[in-house]
Amino acid sequence: MKIAICPGSFDPITLGHLDIIERAADIFDEVIVVVASNSTKKTLFSDDERVRLIRRCVKAANVTVDTHDGLLVDYAKEKGAAAIVKGLRAMSDFEYEFQQALTNQSLYPEAETVFLCARGKNMFLSSSMVKEVCKLGGDISSFVPPEIAQDIYKRCKGDS
Ligand code: ADP
Repeated sequence: MKIAICPGSFDPITLGHLDIIERAADIFDEVIVVVASNSTKKTLFSDDERVRLIRRCVKAANVTVDTHDGLLVDYAKEKGAAAIVKGLRAMSDFEYEFQQALTNQSLYPEAETVFLCARGKNMFLSSSMVKEVCKLGGDISSFVPPEIAQDIYKRCKGDS
């Protein structure tokens, strides 16, 4: 049984994240989406809210969602994960992701970092761009899963 973890902030999940999670679910037996919990970082949604938003969007039966606030490799070890799956949008993602991958490799070589290329249509998508557009009153419907668009609008307007 090959377990993969898909880590990220997911504040909030975008169609780019969802695509990577679903493609990982097609490759691995089990995928755990790991929401990075960081009490010092200001987020639009709390850890639990981000977990619930992700659960509402992901349809694949072999995907579960969890939070973790320590070293990712400790979580990978605890779950017996064979892979850490990351999405790459552009060369600009590469340097940081490569550094992370080499660090994780030296801390826990049993888990391979696997990079999936973003789809062309998702190359420009990021959670921060979604929040910026939404706060300025723009249409985010083509950037985020339809199940959660209203939650993001409400939060950005300060209604919830
Ligand atoms: P963001 O960069 O949007 O804040 P995260 O830190 O939550 O996202 O990223 C989690 C993972 O998802 C990272 O591996 C990141 O490269 C990947 N990712 C983010 N946005 C996209 C996208 N539009 N297409 C593919 N992968 C993405």
